[in-house]
Amino acid sequence: MKTTQVMINGGGMVGASAALLLADLGLQVTVVEAADAPHFDPNDPLDLRVSAISVASQTLLAKAGVWEAIAAMRICPYRRLATRQQGGQALTFNAADIDQPLLGYIIENKVIQTALWQAMLAHPHIEMLNPAQIASFDNQPEGVEVKLSSGDTWFAQLLVAADGAKSFCRQHAGIGTTAWDYRQHCMLINIKTDQAQQDITWQEFVTTGPRAFLPLAGPYASLAWYHQVADIRRLSSLSNTELKQAIKAEFAHLDFDFEVLQAGAFPLTRQHAQSYYKHSVVLLGDAAHTINPLAGQGVNLGFKDVQALAVQLEFNALTQVDQKQQALRDYQQQRRGDNLLMQSAMDVFYKSFSSQLPGMQGLREIGLTLAQNSGALKNKVMKYAMGL
Ligand SMILES: Cc1cc2nc3c(=O)[nH]c(=O)nc-3n(C[C@H](O)[C@H](O)[C@H](O)COP(=O)(O)OP(=O)(O)OC[C@H]3O[C@@H](n4cnc5c(N)ncnc54)[C@H](O)[C@@H]3O)c2cc1C
Repeated sequence: MKTTQVMINGGGMVGASAALLLADLGLQVTVVEAADAPHFDPNDPLDLRVSAISVASQTLLAKAGVWEAIAAMRICPYRRLATRQQGGQALTFNAADIDQPLLGYIIENKVIQTALWQAMLAHPHIEMLNPAQIASFDNQPEGVEVKLSSGDTWFAQLLVAADGAKSFCRQHAGIGTTAWDYRQHCMLINIKTDQAQQDITWQEFVTTGPRAFLPLAGPYASLAWYHQVADIRRLSSLSNTELKQAIKAEFAHLDFDFEVLQAGAFPLTRQHAQSYYKHSVVLLGDAAHTINPLAGQGVNLGFKDVQALAVQLEFNALTQVDQKQQALRDYQQQRRGDNLLMQSAMDVFYKSFSSQLPGMQGLREIGLTLAQNSGALKNKVMKYAMGL
């Protein structure tokens, strides 16, 4: 049987950043990933999956030693953010109002993943097993005995489940979730505009669901269109030319010409693990929580999990069962409430903006106008969203 101190199942953005931070603490880390290594080529089509990355996440990626590589590939800083309901006034946030150079970045997921993988492959304390999968494991307070699909067996003092929303490890460890389906899907559409680089991201709330514009590097941008499942299915069946016409009819604030490049649809679900650990299995990122992507917080919360776990394990001997349990308890204590708060806030926002109750439109407009003129409070919200 082979041994390792920390086995991480899932080498996505959260699992890979956890591997780097934990390996930097001197821990021996083994990453199990079902898919092939991610790859970035500037001539390949843009990734449909993009993330709004906060300044706090940028700091974490710098700590993991990958920010320079990410910036050298392809990123888009954004400096302004606008939110409005259909036909209403915009609530605008501007980095200059809080003396910051920018609010965050929009980055293709494959750019972040590629930089993280390059760093993992070069790290002396990280061993990569991919493509590979865990077939089963026996989870005990002392550690986890893991059987891979290849037949190899491993003993790990800690098994980190970073294997996404459908986490095999979470299910196999018997950790339940509370979940609901928003009955909406999100269509992501990459476009090439006839504009030079843009630095504003905006959202418009319509009763059928929000619509968002996220600038990408150069003349490119990503559109997010939330709608009922049947409507997204209909939009998915359109040719790029037909989809462009549908976008022009519905996205009132796209006042420039563009070409549709790629599109794809993703279901919206909210899920939260009832516990973030059990014996020697600990959940990180989407394995622990998924959130409405509306405010682009999902992976930013995952990176906060990574940071919190790394702090807990810094002076912790994983061989001491009591110390390990205390560290995992503290990690859960630190992260579960914060993630729940963000999930709930997004839901209140999402529901209040889709409500068609009489008077709601006016109330929302008053709320947005008050927020727009709230000065210090608005700046505080902006700093919180940036992770400052
Ligand atoms: C439409 C949409 C838009 C979004 N926009 C944003 C945004 O702007 N900003 C933001 O912060 N977040 C955003 N998110 C959320 C963000 O994409 C997720 O929070 C993030 O990808 C979670 O990362 P993760 O590493 O935890 O999980 P994942 O990205 O799901 O990675 C899991 C990894 O585990 C691997 N894996 C899975 N099962 C196994 C197995 N059994 N064995 C081995 N390996 C396995 C997978 O191959 C994958 O590499 C968005 C989500 C959606 C759906």
